[in-house]
Amino acid sequence: MTERTTGVYGYEGPPCVDHEGHIYYEPDILREEYDIEPVPADRRLEVVVSGGSMGGLFTAHALGQSGHDVDVFERTERGEMRGRGAGIVPDPELLLYMERHGLVEDRDEVSVVMDRLDYLDHDGSVRESRPYTIRSTSWDTFYRPLRDAVGEDAYHMGTGVVDVTREDRTATARFEDGGSATGDLLVAAEGYGSRTRERLLPDVELQYAGYVAWRGIIPERELPDDLAEHLGEAFVIYHGPDFQILTYPVPGAEGSTERGDRRVNLVWYENVPTGEELDDLLLDRDGRQREGALPPGKLRPEIRERQNRLARATVPEPLTRYVQTLDDLYIQCIYDLKVPRMVFDRVCLLGDGAFFVRPHMAAGTSKAAADGFTLAEAISTHPDLSTALEAWEASQLELGDRLVEMARQRGDRYIGRF
Ligand SMILES: Cc1cc2nc3c(=O)[nH]c(=O)nc-3n(C[C@H](O)[C@H](O)[C@H](O)COP(=O)(O)OP(=O)(O)OC[C@H]3O[C@@H](n4cnc5c(N)ncnc54)[C@H](O)[C@@H]3O)c2cc1C
Repeated sequence: MTERTTGVYGYEGPPCVDHEGHIYYEPDILREEYDIEPVPADRRLEVVVSGGSMGGLFTAHALGQSGHDVDVFERTERGEMRGRGAGIVPDPELLLYMERHGLVEDRDEVSVVMDRLDYLDHDGSVRESRPYTIRSTSWDTFYRPLRDAVGEDAYHMGTGVVDVTREDRTATARFEDGGSATGDLLVAAEGYGSRTRERLLPDVELQYAGYVAWRGIIPERELPDDLAEHLGEAFVIYHGPDFQILTYPVPGAEGSTERGDRRVNLVWYENVPTGEELDDLLLDRDGRQREGALPPGKLRPEIRERQNRLARATVPEPLTRYVQTLDDLYIQCIYDLKVPRMVFDRVCLLGDGAFFVRPHMAAGTSKAAADGFTLAEAISTHPDLSTALEAWEASQLELGDRLVEMARQRGDRYIGRF
């Protein structure tokens, strides 16, 4: 369908049909081109970025294209970021950006291309196989080259920002170790639990969506042959009565996309009410009560056994075997989050720290990148920083709001029952 129609979310674009047959409107997160030009020396900014994951790194890279001097501060200690986000299904434009800027040589070589969606029946057979092209990558596909491009001297690990202050035309980040950094602009890309957002917008709260995502990943070659053959090739979906399981192949730990070297990624959405049940899942193996997520390596053995039992009772046999083969499972709670503002003098919020979009749109990384690209673009195309930030905020508030609503509707339709 080529006719342009006014979309249900206030977005004008052609309607699409998703893999479930529902009509939706292409979220249009990233463009193919951004007008990010080098700025004259007297307009170069000192920029402090708090948070060195997707939002922080894409922002730092894009601002660096204009010649701004950017320092990124990441609270995680060196060596602990690796493999953080497992599989990522990126927007094609994101891979194009990586290729154009020499961050990857060839986007085809860093992504696994699947050509079908397989829906499983409860007996494990393929109920329906639909032609559908999807590319998957992993968090490392972006993290490593971006961090290298930002440079060792500008990427400061183990440096958590504990406070942010706003001065006349500057902002300052204070670190756990007592140090500080002042910039013409401070970008907080701190993820959904952003402390800077909590301080700037104390009334804004994360809304738990009523379900969690269980995640896991395993090298293809550690799977039994029949599973490796199927799960290593297709995007596999199973809908249970109040849960949904997705598996898809992603590049191997060293980035290889060859058959046999890949890994198979799990996302298992399960309804879990708040209170005792959720707290129990998030109590880690060292006795520490976690909130919002249970990181890899921290699941208690009895919870792992709970999940294996649940799989045996409710999940098709091939996926049960797959789940049981995974060395580790970890948990991410799913939230909705919207902010009414993203700019506070010389401080701005972006990525998941501003709008947390439920993962059903596979939009979070692209949105975090879009926030960074459009920020760099606004600064290079507006006459001064204040008008640039004003224009940037208006466009990204609209995008964030639209995506949160679209993802909420999808999630509630597929999983949420609370
Ligand atoms: C189950 C699941 C599946 C997903 N699948 C996809 C997908 O297929 N495609 C996709 O595009 N997206 C996907 N996403 C979303 C994607 O992972 C996020 O949207 C993206 O990582 C957001 O990037 P960010 O930089 O804003 O936040 P984060 O990645 O959360 O990074 C925030 C960073 O800031 C650091 N930090 C926090 N506070 C401080 C501080 N005070 N000082 C210094 N550093 C700090 C943190 O350590 C972290 O490194 C998925 C998410 C989930 C939960």
